[in-house]
Amino acid sequence: MQNVVFNIKIAQEVIEYAKKVSAERLTKGTWGNISVKSGEYVYITPSGYPYDKLKPKDICVVDMEGQKVFGNLKPSSELPLHIQIYLNRSNVGAIIHTHPIYSTIVSITQREIPPIVEDAVMILGETLKVSEYALPGTEELAQKALEALGTNNCVFLKNHGLVTVGENLQEAFIATLIAEKTAQIYVEALKVGNVSLLPMEHARLLREKYITSYRQK
Ligand code: 13P
Ligand code: ZN
Repeated sequence: MQNVVFNIKIAQEVIEYAKKVSAERLTKGTWGNISVKSGEYVYITPSGYPYDKLKPKDICVVDMEGQKVFGNLKPSSELPLHIQIYLNRSNVGAIIHTHPIYSTIVSITQREIPPIVEDAVMILGETLKVSEYALPGTEELAQKALEALGTNNCVFLKNHGLVTVGENLQEAFIATLIAEKTAQIYVEALKVGNVSLLPMEHARLLREKYITSYRQK
């Protein structure tokens, strides 16, 4: 293993958000995973390890080829997914993968969520896609997820769950909350009747505004 300086503050932040994901019941048991990119390294949760038992030294550090450079535990099995997103989206600094109920319903019944509400369109993207199915933990899943993610901040993994991205963990976490809320609204609205969509042109304007000028510097 290479000799790398372990940043305990980053590991603590990963754990803080792992606990928030658990508290919000966005995933059950040990499923899901969280990572942060720091320079040429990725801090990621260990595979199949209870969130409430995580200590900073349990967080794995890997290089951009997925080789472990720090930690005694096995990194998340979805490491290829995290690495591929970081390699292809230079503005992404954090990734959260969860198995929330409504996002998973969308992933088994729909191909996408059209533009329906303002916050989702701004924070996540105009049309939110479901990726094609692939076996969890594979390079194939990573490629299919990346394709459906495009320039959005969330993608539903077919018959599986949700992935959100952000410049930092706070953004990725809010994206998870908004994606799950939007999935719930859409699933419930489909039961009520016709779903009215935002005008496409307005959706485009809202997303652009969020990316270029909405956020505080
Ligand atoms: P890990 O426990 O290996 O991080 O993976 C859980 C999961 O959600 C796989 O898709
Ligand atoms: Zn998963």
